Amino acid sequence: MEKHECVIIGSGPAGYTAAVYAARADLKPIMYTGLEPGGQLTTTTDVENFPGYPEGIMGPEMMEDFRKQAERFGTDVRFGMVTKTEFSKIPGASHILTIDENTKIEARTVIIATGATAKYLGLESEKKMMGHGVSACAICDGFFFKGKDVVVVGGGDSAAEEATYLSKLCPKVTLLVRKDAMRASQIMIKRVENTPNITIMYNTDTLEVLGEKTVSGVRVRNNQTGEEQIVEAEGFFVAIGHKPNTDIFKGQLDMDEVGYLKTKPGTASTNLPGVFATGDAQDKIYRQAITAAGSGCMGALEAERYLSEYEETVEA
Ligand code: NDP
Repeated sequence: MEKHECVIIGSGPAGYTAAVYAARADLKPIMYTGLEPGGQLTTTTDVENFPGYPEGIMGPEMMEDFRKQAERFGTDVRFGMVTKTEFSKIPGASHILTIDENTKIEARTVIIATGATAKYLGLESEKKMMGHGVSACAICDGFFFKGKDVVVVGGGDSAAEEATYLSKLCPKVTLLVRKDAMRASQIMIKRVENTPNITIMYNTDTLEVLGEKTVSGVRVRNNQTGEEQIVEAEGFFVAIGHKPNTDIFKGQLDMDEVGYLKTKPGTASTNLPGVFATGDAQDKIYRQAITAAGSGCMGALEAERYLSEYEETVEA
């Protein structure tokens, strides 16, 4: 069985930052990228709030830079999924990780940076039309709806961003907000309100995505008046938040009811020795690339200190 000092699970800003720090500390980190190398930022266009890029940068390009920087110091970046974890509770003992359901490796420290995934409404009709007009990523799929009317559901920054993005491709964007106000930041709300081809429908619930082979409209209801109507559209974009990718750690690591991993305040330490949680998998408050990167740094520094404390593996 391969044995490593430090294995990083996930390849977003948290994972790559952990990799840079761990590699420069000579921990020879191994990174498993997961199915979406680069993470959520690879589905974003302009990133304007990451310090160091005065003109902004495209998300996928930024993640390429992260990868190159991690590899420059010797990180072994591997395309693969960690499908099972058998964490030890004994300080200094190794943890066992299963890769792609078949290979087991030993890791003295594990840095979790598995991020989060987009949520869906859970409607049958939404599921049926997935990939046939239903999407959770305007940046990925918006191009297919060029010149067509679309609907976006959600009231946060993601929904505002997706609606604004789609408004440049589509003649009409209808934004469905379930409350009487959006919770997005003021600047994003203003941008949406000032875009002439975006119509915001407040107090509106989505009842059904209509269409046989492709989306033809959305049946909605005003939750104040009870009035139903059909919004004609060929695309339905869901932007209602994310779920942390932590299912494989259930029963082993402490997490909240949504699945966000719990860390000791001010640290990246989980309830188990040598297992550190970083990025969106443990952050439901900030969820920014820069905060994820910062916590990735914390995870690597803590892993390094932990390894200095337990120089040799203790028998499990
Ligand atoms: P949020 O959790 O902030 O917002 C989710 C939105 O979806 C809310 O308006 C919520 O409604 C709505 N919603 C949830 N479930 C349903 C449902 N079943 N039906 C209808 N509506 C529903 O998620 P975001 O992804 O928007 O943002 C997450 C974080 O990422 C935030 O901190 C945000 O600021 C940040 N972000 C920043 C960006 C930027 O700076 N460029 C871009 C994108 C995100 P309700 O309000 O009623 O609960």
